Amino acid sequence: MILPEPVQNLVNALSRLPGIGPKTASRLTFHLLRSSDDLAGDLANALLNLKSGTTYCQTCFNITVAGRVECEICASPERDAGLICVVEEALDVLALERTAGFQGRYHVLHGALSPIEGIGPEDLKVRELLERVQAGGVQEVILATNPSMEGDYTAAYLSQQLQSSPVRLTRLARGLPVGGDLEYADQNTLLRALSGRQEMR
Ligand SMILES: [Zn+2]
Repeated sequence: MILPEPVQNLVNALSRLPGIGPKTASRLTFHLLRSSDDLAGDLANALLNLKSGTTYCQTCFNITVAGRVECEICASPERDAGLICVVEEALDVLALERTAGFQGRYHVLHGALSPIEGIGPEDLKVRELLERVQAGGVQEVILATNPSMEGDYTAAYLSQQLQSSPVRLTRLARGLPVGGDLEYADQNTLLRALSGRQEMR
């Protein structure tokens, strides 16, 4: 069966999303075709506003509302500016915030180092992190990159880069599923990993 171009276009676009194969993409597309105009319209609007309505915090690179320089966490006087939790993705911030057990601030790297995939420090928000620490006022940096090969490698690299800084350097405790993403860990596991964090030097 040859699909009309508008249908095929949506199937193709959805197929490019992580975790969605051509079959799921087709199923979703046909669901939208069958459903009320509201659903397709709401989805289209939400997609259009997704990029234009958001920006990155200029301090921690978490996502925030467009027009803001800092995210709510960085702007909050309640949050400890001396404690920085370094994560790979903004989704990890969400996971840690859900535990309600962390009162510091974050730094989102936007990925992990991967020599195999050619991702180096200049591709991530590494320089910005080092500058934040060098600016002073930071007592502890928690390296909360994923418990994967890339995450461990990134933590080791950052610890080396921060060698001459007088800050306390810690890594989340083991017990998180190895190879897994922080965002998939349940709240209790994350809380335990956070409270049992270990010195890196
Ligand atoms: Zn921020």
